[in-house]
Amino acid sequence: MSFREIIGHRRPLEILRKAMLRGRLAHAYLFTGPDGVGKRTTALKFAKAVLCGKGDGDSCGECSSCLKMESLNHPDLLVVEPRGGQILVDQVREVQDRLLFRPLEGEARMIILDSAHNLNPQASNALLKILEEPPRGNIFVLVASSESSLLPTIVSRCQRLYFGPLMDHEVMGFLVKRLGWEEERAREVARQARGSISAALELGDKPLRAWKEEARRILEMGRDEKSSPLLNLASAWSKERKETMERLECLRMEIREALVQEARRRPTDSGPREIRARRVEELLWMWRESGKTIQALERNMNVQLAMEELLIRFHEIKSSGKRSLYLTWIRRS
Ligand SMILES: [Zn+2]
Repeated sequence: MSFREIIGHRRPLEILRKAMLRGRLAHAYLFTGPDGVGKRTTALKFAKAVLCGKGDGDSCGECSSCLKMESLNHPDLLVVEPRGGQILVDQVREVQDRLLFRPLEGEARMIILDSAHNLNPQASNALLKILEEPPRGNIFVLVASSESSLLPTIVSRCQRLYFGPLMDHEVMGFLVKRLGWEEERAREVARQARGSISAALELGDKPLRAWKEEARRILEMGRDEKSSPLLNLASAWSKERKETMERLECLRMEIREALVQEARRRPTDSGPREIRARRVEELLWMWRESGKTIQALERNMNVQLAMEELLIRFHEIKSSGKRSLYLTWIRRS
């Protein structure tokens, strides 16, 4: 695979391609953005293109450099990854020792620091020293989830490129074209993957269909039902934080779907106007509350508590009588 075959990320790729064509590469790049959108893949394909003998802004896939890159066996490629959750100072010193020598095969050496947000303090300081006076011909690519987890002095020495979430159709395209998934399954998974290929691959192994059924049961739950079936669901959901968040995302997809259905209905289709208005209010409220729960889970709130709270709120929404939910919702915002 070459640089131009990377999915999405038009802007950062264009910046890198132009720099390669003009022969004006920065000595350090920082790729940031959410997990699973292709930052590491881009770093490797960028390195391959820079090291390729052809030098036309992409890799040729045929020269000896490209073949060595395919097997990640290029003497002028260094990839540093966390050991036991951290990048240690010794790993940075090893890089430093290599920089004493010129690149072995061509004019450039590429150093990729994967998960650079895991540099520990000593390693960060050692890296900063290198970036302050980088020996010529060495190009660093730091791959990190966010800038804020790095020393500001390191960030300021890098050209920063942001890799945002992919579009749903890009994720779907990857699943269908590269992995040969059937379209319907790919579409379903892509819609829930929040623009992340790795999330899509994880979701691919999960019972999405069962989750959707479960979400529909919650949305269709009658006003008179007691809260216990919801609480049972909460305890089934709460085993794992990440999975709970995925199931909530699934619920939100169903809420969105239901809102679209409501909007498409003709006035006479579903009874008196106030009943429909109430249904829409209910859905909007559920949308908002489930979004808040996802945020709370991201902030590490106890999963069981968060889910019980959400489901009690859902029950209140379903059972509260004449009061206008929408007005209450506006007041709360
Ligand atoms: Zn090549």
